[in-house]
Amino acid sequence: MKFLAISLFIALAFNNSACAQEKAKQYEIAKPPSCVNNLGEPVEFRERVGGRLQVAAGMANRDGKKQPFVLRMNYAFSPPEFQSFIDHHECAHHQTGDVDRPHPPRNGPEHLMNESISDCIAIMFLRDEQAYDETKLNAVENAMRKDMVKIGFPEISISSRISNMKNCYKKEDGSAEFIKIIEQRRAEIIKKLAFVE
Ligand SMILES: [Zn+2]
Repeated sequence: MKFLAISLFIALAFNNSACAQEKAKQYEIAKPPSCVNNLGEPVEFRERVGGRLQVAAGMANRDGKKQPFVLRMNYAFSPPEFQSFIDHHECAHHQTGDVDRPHPPRNGPEHLMNESISDCIAIMFLRDEQAYDETKLNAVENAMRKDMVKIGFPEISISSRISNMKNCYKKEDGSAEFIKIIEQRRAEIIKKLAFVE
């Protein structure tokens, strides 16, 4: 089974941790958005609770019946602004077709690029369609920072991820145009590779 997505989050979130099981604050779970992948298939949202670290995470994949889905894990532990961000980040992996491509090596440049692209698409969508203002953007960044610290990410990973999101928030493109640009670039790269071969 192919695991995509905020795989960094999950891998670490479900690993061993010395963290005590203190009672974390719980939030209401946001309604999932509607999401359609690059092939026009509707994406299902499913819930799961578990893991020792009480952090929200998401995963984009297809199940045994090839149904595209997003797994929403532990959403109750994060504020709704961040829950929606994860939903749209995972949806972006479906919209860009990441889910149907072989998973690049974890933490390699291609993987990190895919993550930055999904972050960017999610932030633009939330800005344009959900009226995310600076306050909501800050709520997303703070929740992300808190979880990434808890999981044990180095500061450089956290700050570069957040600065990418801030830059995306300022971009003039909308998420749909951005997805098109990404598709075109991928097609060009594939053409170049074909030419070389
Ligand atoms: Zn991701």
